[in-house]
Amino acid sequence: YVDLQHKKVLVLGLAKSGVAAAEILHELGAFVTVNDSKPFEESPDAQNLLQKGITVICGRHPEDLLDEGFELVVKNPGIPYSNPIVADAISRGLPVWTEIELAYLISEAPFIGITGSNGKTTTTTLIFEMLNNGGKQPLIAGNIGTVACGVAKEAQKEQVIVTELSSFQLMGTATFKPKIAILTNLYDAHLDYHGTFESYADAKFGVTRNQDAEDYFIYNADQPIVVGYAAQSKAQKIPFTTKGRAEVGISADDTTIYWQGEPYMTRATIALPGKHNLENILTAVAACLLMGCDKAKMEEVLATFAGVRHRTQFVREWNGRKIYNDSKATNCLATKSALDAFSAPVILLAGGLDRGHSFEELRPSMEHVKGVVAFGETGLRFVEFAKSCGVTKAIIAQNVEDAVQYAAPMSEEGDIILLSPACASWDQYDSFEIRGDAFIDTVMKL
Ligand code: ADP
Repeated sequence: YVDLQHKKVLVLGLAKSGVAAAEILHELGAFVTVNDSKPFEESPDAQNLLQKGITVICGRHPEDLLDEGFELVVKNPGIPYSNPIVADAISRGLPVWTEIELAYLISEAPFIGITGSNGKTTTTTLIFEMLNNGGKQPLIAGNIGTVACGVAKEAQKEQVIVTELSSFQLMGTATFKPKIAILTNLYDAHLDYHGTFESYADAKFGVTRNQDAEDYFIYNADQPIVVGYAAQSKAQKIPFTTKGRAEVGISADDTTIYWQGEPYMTRATIALPGKHNLENILTAVAACLLMGCDKAKMEEVLATFAGVRHRTQFVREWNGRKIYNDSKATNCLATKSALDAFSAPVILLAGGLDRGHSFEELRPSMEHVKGVVAFGETGLRFVEFAKSCGVTKAIIAQNVEDAVQYAAPMSEEGDIILLSPACASWDQYDSFEIRGDAFIDTVMKL
């Protein structure tokens, strides 16, 4: 383990990751102080940490906090670099980490780190499921599963930690070096936090920055911006492409997946629909192959994997209609990839929080949408947009539950009924998960 004994460490932000980081640092013998804006009385986490002997400063962020002589700051990924204490720490030359760096330093097991604008959770889950089926005893950490620190502590040498990494997490790494790094794609997202596309891309590229020739970097060869970044990676490069057979890396045409130019696996038995999911499958297969996973064990998973909950997730077949829940699609790009995943006629359920965004990006993908039921703040605007795309059956519903009741009679045998809102949920639902669950409940009662 890296020597954190007797180091004075400040942990900023007490979400799940802050609590785990504080506990681990404490166990490693560091002198830990945690600071969170929530009042002490309202924070069971803070009370527990205090009982363990950790210093707790709650309900305020004292401006002179860093005068205490901290040597390291571990911050929650959600706290921006413009935060006064973080900015102060940087100007004092202190290292500012996120919990993932700590997890890396204490882990005996290697990491597979997955980042990118879209497809992280799907790819992470697929890798985990396939390695698991292949008897590799993987551990999953991050967004899904437990905080990386907690997992890292228990991990054995012969295991592997599969973890999804946001750009916010990657910005807080110093030496983090995954055995396999994956960059799924780069789109213009999250710019409100990062300011420029360049700084966003730089953060994502952090996934491979410390890699060397014994590591692997799997990346999207169909995106020139990613290829440009990949040239700087020192790892062994594994490009992926869905544009037909390629001599290097992993590639696919309509029927077959190729590894280093040779046919490797048929696509015929893969359950997950869509070109975007094919990308996720290629990256996942490449990662598992590099980990020595048995092909037949991967194929077993690919034949049944119906998608992660709320991500173009197959819910059920109802009177010849296939029904999918893509509640996670909170922007146009995600909805576009869901629409492009199907060739059958689609009844689309969409709408939600109004951020003033236009739906124009969806226009090329609206061709096979034959009906729209829209809801939420953007409901009316979405109906108008659908009509302008030539969708004649476009109506308003109260909410998602109501929309299902309208969509069912609108559909015919062979159709797809798809919830893919292209909007956040917060106008009507606390989260996309709750929105998706409401959809599933209603669909199961049809
Ligand atoms: P993330 O964890 O990066 O948000 P998810 O796997 O949760 O990604 O997928 C979120 C949404 O993004 C999905 O509902 C799907 O519509 C879309 N998506 C998934 N994979 C890709 C991909 N490789 N390229 C483009 N869009 C994708």
